[in-house]
Amino acid sequence: MTEDTKISSQNFIGTPEASLRGIFPDWKPYRIHQIFNWVYHYGYRDFAEMSNISKVMRAQLADRFHFSLPQVQNKTHSQDGSIKYLLRLDDGALVESVWMPSDSRKTLCISTQVGCRLNCSFCLTASLGLKRNLTAGEILGQCMTVNEDLGKEDAITNVVFMGMGEPLDNLGPVVDALRLMTAPEAMRMSTRKVTVSTSGLVDRINEFQKENIHINLAISLNASDDITRDRIMPINKKYPIKVLMDCLKNYPLKPQRRHTIEYVLLEGINDSDDDARRLAKWLKGIPCKINLIPFNSFESSEYRPPPDKQTFKFQDYLIEQNFSAFIRQNRATDILGACGQLAAESQNPSYA
Ligand code: SF4
Repeated sequence: MTEDTKISSQNFIGTPEASLRGIFPDWKPYRIHQIFNWVYHYGYRDFAEMSNISKVMRAQLADRFHFSLPQVQNKTHSQDGSIKYLLRLDDGALVESVWMPSDSRKTLCISTQVGCRLNCSFCLTASLGLKRNLTAGEILGQCMTVNEDLGKEDAITNVVFMGMGEPLDNLGPVVDALRLMTAPEAMRMSTRKVTVSTSGLVDRINEFQKENIHINLAISLNASDDITRDRIMPINKKYPIKVLMDCLKNYPLKPQRRHTIEYVLLEGINDSDDDARRLAKWLKGIPCKINLIPFNSFESSEYRPPPDKQTFKFQDYLIEQNFSAFIRQNRATDILGACGQLAAESQNPSYA
């Protein structure tokens, strides 16, 4: 394939099954599944090697598609074993993904946008503004690149969409990526092991639920009253807490499943006893577990984490009210890899 044809052809990674059916209407669905299996399960990047696909089909594929994955630009190792990947995309844009090992899991936190437009005041990514959305291939590609870099033993078991960007602000590509990620004929990840985090775009949550992809939803709540939430998460002015809570109450969950409520604790802002009481009131009747995350300060931040004593008191109150409430320590804090700290753009001033 010449360089010219390569550029005009489409990246096969991330191309949805429905698009392939549209391009090749005569092909039987199982043929497309076989190709997905070669690519996403066995890691092949050359149609010519797909031995159970006819030569004609392989040639047709090679005419239309190429393979492109994010390239590792840099890796930073944290003392806790996590690795922050700086990945370069085809147009030179940079995004970050963070691989976090624990005893039983290897979780990858992936990005969905270059930057973000939602402007949460505690988040470093917000300072970049939104540069562009990622394609489905670039979203999935983060998992594939990291898996190829680390090898089988450290292969990803869980994926969280909590990196740069608001996933539901880039809904189409995120849905395409999720379908391929969880399809038994493609990447084969259990829907139970994939979590999409959102700041609470209610209209998009409603659209997303119609897609019938039963992954876990994490809601980044972070305040117990609208005045505070308006200030730290401006999206609250459009979708106030009550509207968001009603949306969660009506969200059709599969049996045994529940939402995750993420609550970053900021000293003097949202960590009082009254906050705990109001939070419990809002969440009553919503199947959920609550992750309390003491804020991890960074240089330019105006916020601090609460003293441990207050964090435990906050948790105790929620447990007394019969909630599952956990204190989650941020991972990779020494390498700016924690929640809300990904800001690859600052390392790449030439990309605009
Ligand atoms: S916290 Fe999430 S939604 Fe808010 S600015 Fe940061 S990346 Fe965007």
